[in-house]
Amino acid sequence: MKRKIAILFVSVLLLFTACQSQESETGDNSTDEANTSTDVVTEATMAYTDDENFDVPADVVRSESTVIDDSNKTGRLITSQESYQIGTYIKISIYDDYQAPDKFFDEIFYTIDNYEKMISKNIVTSEVDKINEMAGVEPVAVSDDLWELIQYGLEYSEISGGKFDITIGPLVDLWGIGTDEAHIPTSDEIQEAMSLIDYHNVVLDETNQTVYLTHEDMKLDLGAIAKGYIADAIKAVILNRGFDAAIINLGGNVLTVGTKPNSDSWAVGVRDPNGGQSDIVGILNLKDNSIVSSGVYERFFIEDNVRYHHILNPYTGYPEQNDLAAISIISEKSVDGDGLSTSLFVMGLEDGFAYAQSRDDIEVMFITYDNKIYYTDGLEDKFILTNTLYDNVGALE
Ligand code: FAD
Ligand code: MG
Repeated sequence: MKRKIAILFVSVLLLFTACQSQESETGDNSTDEANTSTDVVTEATMAYTDDENFDVPADVVRSESTVIDDSNKTGRLITSQESYQIGTYIKISIYDDYQAPDKFFDEIFYTIDNYEKMISKNIVTSEVDKINEMAGVEPVAVSDDLWELIQYGLEYSEISGGKFDITIGPLVDLWGIGTDEAHIPTSDEIQEAMSLIDYHNVVLDETNQTVYLTHEDMKLDLGAIAKGYIADAIKAVILNRGFDAAIINLGGNVLTVGTKPNSDSWAVGVRDPNGGQSDIVGILNLKDNSIVSSGVYERFFIEDNVRYHHILNPYTGYPEQNDLAAISIISEKSVDGDGLSTSLFVMGLEDGFAYAQSRDDIEVMFITYDNKIYYTDGLEDKFILTNTLYDNVGALE
C-alpha cells in the first residue's frame, strides 16, 4: 500500500512541479540547472541546536532537496522540498545565499504533521475527532492553536451568514466528495445531515478553553480554513529561522514570504478552472501576500453531465451552483484567504463582490462559468491576463 502511495506521489510530484512553475517567473521549475548539492554550504544549520530534533513520521511521503542556482536572476539559491500531507501536495521553496538544511524541512513537515494530528476529523486521536465524538455529551478541552482556529472558523461562519459553516461535517461525510464513496445522497439523508448544521450550536467556554457541540452526531469540519492557518504557521517557522524570502504552497494555498530578491514582487499564476493543473488564466504580482483559491475543479465527480464539487451550500445541502467556477483571495494572512475563499464562493458573485469591496485588507478575483474575470480595484495593476479565452472585466459594476 505504501509503495502504491509512493509511486502515486512521484507521478503527482511531476505534475505538481509543473504547476509550481507559475508561482514565480524564476521559480522552482525554471530552466536553471538543478543540483543535488551535497557540497553546498548550509550555514543556516547554525540556527539549530543539537538537541532540536523534529521526528517526521516515516509514513510522511516527502522528497529530498532540490537546489537551483538562481544567481543570475535573484542572486540566491532556491532550495525546495515537497511532501504529501493533509490530503494535499505541499512544496516549500527557500531563497537564500545558502542551501536550506534538511533539518529546516524536517521542522516544516513535522509542524504540518502535528497540525494534521490535531485538526483532521479522520484521525481518531485528533482533538477535532474528540470534539465530534463528545457531541451532545460533554465539552472537550482544546489546545491554544485549535482554539484560535475555531474562533476564525466561527468568525467566517458569522460573516457569511452561515453559508460557510464549520459544523458542515455531517454533510461533507454524507456526500464523500473526493473519496471513493462519493455519491448523490437521498433527499432524506440530506435533510437529516442539514438538520445537524448550525455553528450557533458550538459552545465555547473561554475560562476552561473547551468546545462543545450541543447535539449528538454534530461534526466540526475545518477543511475549508485549516490549510490557511497551517500556511501562516509555516511562514512563522520560516521567519523564525531567519529566512526572508520563500514560497509556501499547500495544495493551491500559496503564501509568499518577503519580497522576491532582486525583484519587486512574486509572480503567482492563477489556475484556469477549465484547464489542467498547470494551466493558468493570468499572473498576479504579489509581495508578502497569501493567495488562496477555491473552485469547482478541485474535488468533484460527474453524474448525468452534472458536476458535483466539494463546496457545499449548508442551506440547500447540495454543492453550490452559481455563476462561479473559481475564486481567489489575496490577503496578508492565509487563514483569512482560506476562510473567505469558501465563504465568498457560496455567497456568489454579487454578494461576494460587495463584501470584498467593503474590506480594504483583501482583494478578490472571481472567475465565472462564462469565462469572465472580475476583480476588486486593488488588483488592477497587479493582474496580467495571459489566457485569451478569458475576458478581463475588472470590477463588477
Ligand atoms: P476549500 O474551498 O478551502 O474547502 C472546501 C472544503 O471545506 C470541503 O472539502 C469541505 O471539507 C469543507 N466545506 C465544504 N463546504 C463548506 C461550507 N459551506 N462551509 C464550510 N466548510 C465547507 N483530504 C484527503 O483526501 N485525505 C486526507 O487525509 C486529508 N486530511 C486532511 C487533514 C487536515 C488537517 C485538513 C485541514 C484537510 C485534510 N484533507 C484531507 C482535506 C483536503 O486537503 C481538502 O481538499 C482541503 O482541506 C480543502 O481545501 P480546498 O482548498 O481544496 O477547498
Ligand atoms: Mg477555503
